Amino acid sequence: MINTIPEPNESQVEKIDLEEFLNFLNLEPEVKSFLKKACEVAKKRGEFLYFAGGVVRDYLLKKTTKDFDLVLQGNLDTFLQELLSYVEGKILFKSQFLTYKVKVETLNKNFTIDFITARREVYEGPAALPKVFPSSFKEDILRRDFTINTLILGLSPPYEGKLLDLLGGKQDLKNGIIRPLHLFSFVEDPTRIFRGIRYKVRFNFQFAEEFYKALYKAFDFLSLEKLSSFRLCQELKLYLHKESLNNLYSLLEITFNLGVFEKAKLKVKKERFLELVNWLQDLKEEISSQEKEKIFFWGLFGEFYENILRLNFSDKEFKKLKTYEELIKNEISNFLKMKLFEKVRFLEKIPLVQLLVLSLFYKDLKEHVLEWIKIYRKIKPEITGKELKDMGIPEGPKIGKILSFLRKKHLEGKIKSKEEEKQLVKQLIEEGNFLN
Ligand code: ATP
Repeated sequence: MINTIPEPNESQVEKIDLEEFLNFLNLEPEVKSFLKKACEVAKKRGEFLYFAGGVVRDYLLKKTTKDFDLVLQGNLDTFLQELLSYVEGKILFKSQFLTYKVKVETLNKNFTIDFITARREVYEGPAALPKVFPSSFKEDILRRDFTINTLILGLSPPYEGKLLDLLGGKQDLKNGIIRPLHLFSFVEDPTRIFRGIRYKVRFNFQFAEEFYKALYKAFDFLSLEKLSSFRLCQELKLYLHKESLNNLYSLLEITFNLGVFEKAKLKVKKERFLELVNWLQDLKEEISSQEKEKIFFWGLFGEFYENILRLNFSDKEFKKLKTYEELIKNEISNFLKMKLFEKVRFLEKIPLVQLLVLSLFYKDLKEHVLEWIKIYRKIKPEITGKELKDMGIPEGPKIGKILSFLRKKHLEGKIKSKEEEKQLVKQLIEEGNFLN
């Protein structure tokens, strides 16, 4: 394990055109002038300000980057106070790890910048959160996950306009290699394993031999088992939220093949991966990101109670899933014989997330659910409750009954337009006894 890095030598420092780099970031004018001011303030205070991590990596890969981290070797608290006395911006959040989230208002939409204090981290046990201490850029490089994320780009002296590559990050980036910085990297922080898998898949890179060695070390130290349920969930969520759905299958497969699920004490069925990914693809246009997340977690882990305990999911939700599973198990053969509107009525008895999760386990149900969510769920009478009142229907449960009756007629294909709905309601009123 490397504890210190010597001063950069010439071969590790490369001149960069800062203006070109800022253009690459494609920033709103307000953000660009905010950054320029930040550089001036850093220079005036004699503090070293630099970009680090993903943004520098993505610049060299010529890939667009969504957010970026700015690191200060210095006192971030007073630095930001001074900066914000010159330019518009608001501190949204300050974390225990000496980082700040700052909002910069722009004409189109607000932009947030993560400001980080260059820091040293000390881990007191496997998978424990580190203690952090303000430190130098060199130590800040040493706390990072992979060599490809150790590149920094200076915005103020002593390395203004310089790209610093102290640990061979550029070479690994060029060769497409994911290499942890030391053997105990994943013992200290097993979330790096998931991060490494994401980078591998996202960039189509390879793991260095050191990755496997660090992985087996983490296994020896039971680091994944010790990882808190909260942090484990957070990492898995990033598979969904930071990566493309097209990559989800590979992410899950690699995680499984490396033995990571097993060591994290999560029981999964490999056969489910493809079904789950296809199902999420099918549902893509129809569900919210929160629903997607639930289907992902419950679809992958919801069959086994051990997982519920491991992930600290609610017992109540597990029982709810089981209750609806019973219902489906008992009714599935009847369901398949039902008329369309009866099918719809049955499906709508089950809450959306539970229905979509259980469709994964009951394949006979799946195509019907897909048709329902894409088509029949959206079929609703056009006439409103108010219009029904205006036609003489008294306020109260009758309105709801008429609306569901009209929906049934739509589903049966007996009516197609609002005009026909009105005709039918008139007819019902004339007949008078339909709602009793
Ligand atoms: P992405 O493109 O996924 O946003 P990123 O590299 O910007 O990639 P972040 O999660 O935003 O990823 O982290 C920023 C930087 O902080 C990383 O590049 C890495 O250097 C460092 N980092 C983040 N998490 C860890 C970790 N668990 N251990 C060590 N370094 C980390």
